Amino acid sequence: MRSKLAAGNWKMNGTRAALDELGAMAEAAGGAAEVLICPPATLVAEAATKADGVMIGGQDCHAEAKGAHTGDIAADMLKDAGASHVILGHSERREDHGESDEDVRAKCRAAWDAGLVAVLCCGESLAQREAQNTLDIIGGQLAGSIPDGATGHNLVVAYEPIWAIGTGKVPTTDQIGDVHDFIRARLERRFGEGVGRSVRILYGGSVKPSNAAEIFAVSNVDGALVGGASLKATDFVPIIDALNASAE
Ligand code: PEP
Repeated sequence: MRSKLAAGNWKMNGTRAALDELGAMAEAAGGAAEVLICPPATLVAEAATKADGVMIGGQDCHAEAKGAHTGDIAADMLKDAGASHVILGHSERREDHGESDEDVRAKCRAAWDAGLVAVLCCGESLAQREAQNTLDIIGGQLAGSIPDGATGHNLVVAYEPIWAIGTGKVPTTDQIGDVHDFIRARLERRFGEGVGRSVRILYGGSVKPSNAAEIFAVSNVDGALVGGASLKATDFVPIIDALNASAE
C-alpha cells in the first residue's frame, strides 16, 4: 500500500517567524499521512531542526553537484541542511526559468544521487486542456522529466494543472481521476507494475480545507501538493486531517 503524503510548497513566502506554524503541523502529522513542508531555501536548515515529525524539502536544486552557478543550490546542500525531498519541475520554474523536461530530468538525477526524493511536477495549461491535449502533455512531461531508475522510494509525481494553481479553480474529480489513472498507467508501463504502483501521485492546484476530502476520495490520488493553504497551520492541518481520514 502507498502511504499518503500531504506536501506544502511555501514558494517565496516566509521568514524565520513562519516556522512557528510547524508546531501545529507536526502535531497533526502523527496519523497515517506523512507531512512534508518545502520552505524557501533560507529556512530549510532551521525548519529541519524544528520540525519533529514533519519532513522538510527544497523547492529546486541544480543539476550539477557543485561549481560556478551563482545563486543556485546543489541537491547535496539541501540534503546536508536536513531536507529529505525536493520539488522539481514546478510550472513556475518551467515558466519563470525556462526549465525544459531535459533540465528537470538532469535535476532529478542529481537529487537521487544526493539521496533526496524528487517530487516531480507535471501539468497542462488551460489552452492545452481546452485543445484536449492534456494527456499528451502529461505523457510527454513524464517521459521527458523522469530518468530511468525511478522507484516508489525516490519519486513522487505531482499533477498540477497550471490553470488551477493559485486561482481557486479546481478540475472536476472526474478530470483529476482521469489524469491520475493515466499517470499510474504510464508509470506501470515504463517501470513495471510493482514500481508503477508504488509511486505516489499527488494532486496540486487550489487544494483547500473545503475541497480536500472530495479530492482525496479520487482513485490514484495519494495526497496533495499545496501552495497557499500550506502557509498557515489553520489551513494546512484540516487538509492533513482530511488525508488521514481518507486512509481509514
Ligand atoms: C503549487 O503551486 O504547488 C500549488 C498547488 O499552489 P496552490 O495550492 O496555491 O494552488
